[in-house]
Amino acid sequence: MPPSAFLRPNLPSVIAALAGGVGAAKFLAGLVRSEPPREITAIVNVADDQEFHGLYVCPDIDSVTYTLGGVNNTKLGWGRESETFRTIDELGRFGVANWFRLGDLDLATHIFRTDQLRKGRTLAEVTNHITRSFEIEATLIPATNDRITTVITAAAANGEPHDLAMQEWFVRDRCEPIVRAVHFEGADGASPAPGVLAALADAEIIVICPSNPVISIGPLLAIPGIKDLLADRRDRVVAISPIVAGAPVKGPADLLMRPLGIEVSCFGVAEQYREFCSTVVFDIVDQDQAERIEAVGVRCVSADTMMTSPDVAAKLAGIVVGAMR
Ligand code: GDP
Repeated sequence: MPPSAFLRPNLPSVIAALAGGVGAAKFLAGLVRSEPPREITAIVNVADDQEFHGLYVCPDIDSVTYTLGGVNNTKLGWGRESETFRTIDELGRFGVANWFRLGDLDLATHIFRTDQLRKGRTLAEVTNHITRSFEIEATLIPATNDRITTVITAAAANGEPHDLAMQEWFVRDRCEPIVRAVHFEGADGASPAPGVLAALADAEIIVICPSNPVISIGPLLAIPGIKDLLADRRDRVVAISPIVAGAPVKGPADLLMRPLGIEVSCFGVAEQYREFCSTVVFDIVDQDQAERIEAVGVRCVSADTMMTSPDVAAKLAGIVVGAMR
């Protein structure tokens, strides 16, 4: 198929979503059941992207793609369903570090993406091609076509601080080094990918998905232009808290929020976002936080935010959209 077959007409972005990986993927799977998928644009974090074995891997884009494509591995919580790991295991024979588990089907995505990037296509163009190949009707755009990288400065209990890539800290070192600081290399000079600012400017509703506030939403906000536009449209912005009952539902958000002085609660999320977000949807178990959140000028909506199935996620999406209409 020629590349032009993958170009989309300019569809109105009725709902724009800022997305990280797993939490966003679950929410978006509900959103596409509750709202017309063609009216949804997800702007996805790329600061976790990293090269492994010469291949360009985009963990967040792929989590969202596989979930919306209905081919995600629900048992592992990442990667493709019915996956095998023969190739990555075989690399061990050559003494290659293979702690980042890339499955055999997943590798096809990375091989295709890397080859296309080398041929001069942008990450946004390749992402569009890949999502169309999985018959995804919503639009997924990488936040930027430029290279930005989350750098975690961390230290073992008595050790010197040192810089780690996100996957080194998270997967290889199992989040053990204590986080001292986080920055997004390259973000200052990055530009939003084509379509990102238009989607945010035109959207009736802007959703900040339940994603890690520090390393999934943080990098999007660090790209010049995005945060200012959100602030201009604050009354249209709604966030779903990824923190329920004072802890992340999954993943290391607490280990990043606490050392950076962000309270690990839905209040902490609301406080972090309040400059550019008018409404926070938090879990019903956190009802006691409502007064504190409203006191910092953020409207509260409570719902069942534990997305145990796409149906629960669709119900949550309906509440989120309904609260903004
Ligand atoms: P990471 O896994 O922390 O790197 O970050 P992601 O941005 O991929 O998303 C994980 C976030 O999604 C975590 O902070 C989770 O608490 C959140 N999350 C995952 N599943 C759910 C859910 O069912 N409900 C809610 N409210 N949050 C969720």
